[in-house]
Amino acid sequence: AKRAAANAIISPDFKFGDMGIGGLDAEFSTIFRRAFASRIFPPDLIEKLGLPHVKGMLLYGPPGTGKTLIARQIGKMLNAREPKVINGPEVLNKYVGQSEENIRKLFADAEKEYKEKGDESGLHIIIFDELDAVCKQRGSGAGGGTGVGDSVVNQLLSKLDGVEQLNNILLIGMTNRKDMIDDALLRPGRLEVHLEISLPDEQGRVDILNIHTAKMKKNNVMDADVDIAELAALTKNFSGAEISGLVKSATSFAFTRHIKVGTMAGVAEDVAGMKVNHQDFLNALGEVRPAFGADESDLE
Ligand code: ATP
Repeated sequence: AKRAAANAIISPDFKFGDMGIGGLDAEFSTIFRRAFASRIFPPDLIEKLGLPHVKGMLLYGPPGTGKTLIARQIGKMLNAREPKVINGPEVLNKYVGQSEENIRKLFADAEKEYKEKGDESGLHIIIFDELDAVCKQRGSGAGGGTGVGDSVVNQLLSKLDGVEQLNNILLIGMTNRKDMIDDALLRPGRLEVHLEISLPDEQGRVDILNIHTAKMKKNNVMDADVDIAELAALTKNFSGAEISGLVKSATSFAFTRHIKVGTMAGVAEDVAGMKVNHQDFLNALGEVRPAFGADESDLE
């Protein structure tokens, strides 16, 4: 199955957009090259190279840009089991000692399996969202000044260093604030691949709009007058998540063209022919606005 995944990627027809992720082809290629290729190339070749797999990666950038989508997709393509997902604020348990225990548990399954099966062990992906909540520069008082943040970082470091021979772990940290992450975590052998996932450019927004309207288009409930290129031009600074919110909002405007709120009579036949049209999207633009980058709107 791993070979099949590899062949799919190497195939010239392969498009990252087909996985429901838009505008991140270049980022995905980088991930593939740096953290991925070694895991799908023949093991004997990797052995000849004598290099350990990348064990950790940091995806950083504004919220809603697809970091979680990518992390999950990596898991699928590498044929890993369902990733363990944990988030920084959750780990910071107020009972001292409990947060280190949470970290220990995260790695326990992978360690156990590696002990039993060695290199035959399947890949364990750990997605650590909002990593900055626990991994602020040590000594900075992260974790409410209790020093809990410090001990979580230490525990993570010892796990990552301890898994030197554990080839079956890929830790994917995510943050909106790379500058807040303890440098020690970002060194080679730890979260060594750093990749910025930024807001999509115009072509990226075309791709994301197409992804999020694909179903309505296929099912013939999107009006032919919807101009995706124009919407992409009008959505400067929107994240993927905000574009998905825009599509939802447009749909709600389409509903209200067919249903007068409060009068449900005669709705069924009206609604049967409902299509989301361009004006619905323009109306949606009046209510869904980008949270970030608004003051950089002239860039691009
Ligand atoms: P956060 O930093 O808040 O955790 P994130 O970068 O992990 O955000 P995701 O959870 O991956 O963001 O994205 C949220 C949702 O937004 C996705 O489930 C998807 O519907 C949509 N989305 C975000 N980015 C993209 C993209 N590049 N292509 C298609 N859809 C996207």
